[in-house]
Amino acid sequence: MRSVILRLGIIAVAMVLAIVLGAHWLSLAHGLAFACLVALAVIGFDTLALTRLLAWLRFPQRDTVPQSFGTWGEVFHRSARQLRLWQSRVQREEGRLSRFIEALQASPNGVMLLDANGQIDWCNATAAGHFGLDPRRDLRQHAVHLIRNPEFVAYLAAHQFAEPLLMRRTGSHGNLLLSVQVIPYGDGDGDRLLLSRDVTQVERTEAMRRDFVANVSHEIKTPLTVIAGFVESLRSLDLSAEERDHILGLMQQQSDRMRHLVEDLLTLAHLEGDPHQPAEELLDMPAMVARLAADARALSGGRHRIEATADLSKLRGAGTELTSAFGNLVSNAVRYTPPGGVVQIRWRVLDTGIGDAAGEFSVTDTGIGIPAEHIPRLTERFYRVDRGRSRESGGTGLGLAIVKHALLRHQAELRIASEPGQGSTFSARFPAQRVVLPEPAPALASEDEAS
Ligand code: ADP
Repeated sequence: MRSVILRLGIIAVAMVLAIVLGAHWLSLAHGLAFACLVALAVIGFDTLALTRLLAWLRFPQRDTVPQSFGTWGEVFHRSARQLRLWQSRVQREEGRLSRFIEALQASPNGVMLLDANGQIDWCNATAAGHFGLDPRRDLRQHAVHLIRNPEFVAYLAAHQFAEPLLMRRTGSHGNLLLSVQVIPYGDGDGDRLLLSRDVTQVERTEAMRRDFVANVSHEIKTPLTVIAGFVESLRSLDLSAEERDHILGLMQQQSDRMRHLVEDLLTLAHLEGDPHQPAEELLDMPAMVARLAADARALSGGRHRIEATADLSKLRGAGTELTSAFGNLVSNAVRYTPPGGVVQIRWRVLDTGIGDAAGEFSVTDTGIGIPAEHIPRLTERFYRVDRGRSRESGGTGLGLAIVKHALLRHQAELRIASEPGQGSTFSARFPAQRVVLPEPAPALASEDEAS
């Protein structure tokens, strides 16, 4: 303000001087003409400065600020300062916006902003993946034109958003189950936030849990019903001592079956639920194979030929878990091989060809074999190829699930090869770091060295 007053003062003094000096030396008319010239010079200077200012304001850059003096110098200086303030504020806001967008992009859930007309304002990559959209190309498109699921269209139209909508979609990664919820936001002018969550795995786990509970209940109910029936017979019928003995024997069989089931369930729960690595020890594999062969002979009752071979080496692992896994493979081989068949238990150290020695425990039988289509599902809990046969032979349907989990905890891999009617081989392949080879025998000193 002060510079404006000073400027006006200087212009006024210059004009007065022009009039006074012109009138003094020439005439009053000359003085007035000089004053007009001063005014014209001021107007010309201002026009020039204004043109420079307008030109600069068209593309304002910090380093091209026009330079001048006096009032115009101040105008340029203040404009440049405002520009700097404005630019840094815009930068700050842009930074905040991009952090906000990054956070929304990082969300594992899909986020989509819809305007009052249902047009897509913005969506993150997860939402684009869920609904098969292109996050750039599909902006400003109507959501219902792109997501042509009738339930979704009805959900948006109904405006009842208290509960999420469950919708199935076939995406690039297979079938998805999405939980979709709309949340209105803003000043009530119709803006909506659409959140989507992939609940495929949650539903799968829930279905597995339901199946598991149903299976366990069924497995326990069957022997319980049989036992209850026998108890009823014992109470109501007049039985001979022999008949009673027979019934008590059958009752014991059923209670053994329930006990095995509960034991297997506990083992499985421990293997699946215990995040801690088990305490490990060095297992003497020839001794382990010999014990398993003895158990197999006891289970077979002399009806099979049991063969056992083992390389001299040790396996690093949890004794109880591996004994239980190997025991299940051996007992399956005996149970699914008709009398007269052969069961071969083997531990060997394999040269992997890259200087490492992997360890392989395998059980081969000449039993009933398994049709190829069942093999991928054998390690599922309660999966059986032949339900009746499994139960008859005392199976719980959990043996191979236990094997799978015990091996997983030892970074080992289960391989199954089988031919229906010919037999099967189940092998567990352990990584080299779990195999300890025997120390080489110390070289005997030659006679020359000895002497
Ligand atoms: P189960 O207690 O029924 O034996 P498992 O989990 O141990 O349960 O095995 C799952 C199914 O795999 C069995 O029901 C059986 O059908 C099949 N199976 C397992 N081992 C063998 C084998 N050595 N020979 C043929 N079938 C087998």
